[in-house]
Amino acid sequence: MDGKLYIVATPIGNLEDITLRAINILKQVDLIAAEDTRHTLKLLNHLQISKPLISYHRHNEETKKDILIQKLKQGQNIAIVSDAGTPGISDPGEEIIKQAIQENITIIPIPGACALINALICSGISTKEFVFLGFLPLNKKLRKGKLEEIKTETKTIILYEAPHKLKATLEDLKDNLENRQVVLARELTKIHEEFIRGTANELLQKIDNLKGEFVIIIEGAKPQEENKFTNLSLEEHYKYYENLGYSKKEIIKQIAKDKNTNKNEIYMYFTNFGE
Ligand code: SAM
Repeated sequence: MDGKLYIVATPIGNLEDITLRAINILKQVDLIAAEDTRHTLKLLNHLQISKPLISYHRHNEETKKDILIQKLKQGQNIAIVSDAGTPGISDPGEEIIKQAIQENITIIPIPGACALINALICSGISTKEFVFLGFLPLNKKLRKGKLEEIKTETKTIILYEAPHKLKATLEDLKDNLENRQVVLARELTKIHEEFIRGTANELLQKIDNLKGEFVIIIEGAKPQEENKFTNLSLEEHYKYYENLGYSKKEIIKQIAKDKNTNKNEIYMYFTNFGE
């Protein structure tokens, strides 16, 4: 029988943020595939777990994926872990999962910490609808495209950013966001955890010498107001206000306002058409 592939979330700072189920799975599996084996070894030592480790990271995903699939096919149960948080979220994991699906291997998520979700829930910015864009690209053209996307996106936007690139990213956001709210979720679950709020411009004044890890939460753009009269003919538009009991003078004034045009033009139209 094939083994099972467990996708196990690990802490993003505070070592207590790991579930009992995750600990049990790490104890039970035959092998743990880790983004950085030295980093994971520290966690395993803390949990007093001793298990064979194999490295599985961005640069060896292609080759290691085949080895891991082979082991799963031989019946070994394997856990995938990344350095922090949930594998597959801006971390390795996606490739082996795609391959495992093709091979009909059972994949089991073991939920836990994820920086983007914890940053979002404490940001105070709308959690109703959101888009996660990961890290902004460094390539100028691709970056410009993403910034354009952020400029018009009406849902809350979530970004990851490396500490030494935070300033440049806030500068770019400042040029594209007008006065939208931005929250920096810094060092989540760690001693220096904090939420810094303001516009991109205000945040730039507050981040001098700030170190640590950051998630950036950005308020969505205000939706362009839909004009409900756009698709109505002038006659239908007129009838709409007539049914509300408006006088002819009031209707013409109102239509001109809705259409952002001169009321004399509207008046002439209805005069010419014998209204
Ligand atoms: N897989 C991880 C997850 O589930 O959140 C994300 C890994 S990604 C390579 C690393 C980025 O996540 C960091 O650059 C930062 O933007 C964010 N991050 C991770 N841990 C964080 C923390 N404790 N506080 C704030 N941001 C964090």
